Amino acid sequence: MKIIYIDLDGVVADFEKGRRNHPLSTITPYIGRPDKLPGVYEHLEPISDAIAAVNKLLNHKDFDVYFLSTAPWDNPEAWMHKRLWVAKYFNEKLVRKRLILCHHKHLLIGDYLIDDRRFNGASEFKGEWLHFGSENFRDWSKILKHLNI
Ligand SMILES: [Mg+2]
Repeated sequence: MKIIYIDLDGVVADFEKGRRNHPLSTITPYIGRPDKLPGVYEHLEPISDAIAAVNKLLNHKDFDVYFLSTAPWDNPEAWMHKRLWVAKYFNEKLVRKRLILCHHKHLLIGDYLIDDRRFNGASEFKGEWLHFGSENFRDWSKILKHLNI
């Protein structure tokens, strides 16, 4: 089995839209710090095609799937909301205890990391970093094609 890590914001959850639509997003101290917006992680919409694609991976015998996301240290409710979010959008039997929240993604051992940003260790990941949203991995169909599924 191949171990695959999937980032949440910008890959599965539409943080950008959630930020834009948040009533406090243009107010100090949240300008430039949208990760501190109260409740912003709780009601994010999924990214197009992400739920179906991740379900394909979760149900595939060749892949061992984990979510690997960074939750803001100074916004502890975000840690809870990310845990609730994955159980809201996926079969809890398939994702139970498969959410890893950390700031050091390069320390995780695995084959693939699907992540839209290089931060928090993503670009130093020892397996293959599939840079979601980049030219080669524009959307989920490109990711699944690369993984031969
Ligand atoms: Mg991200």
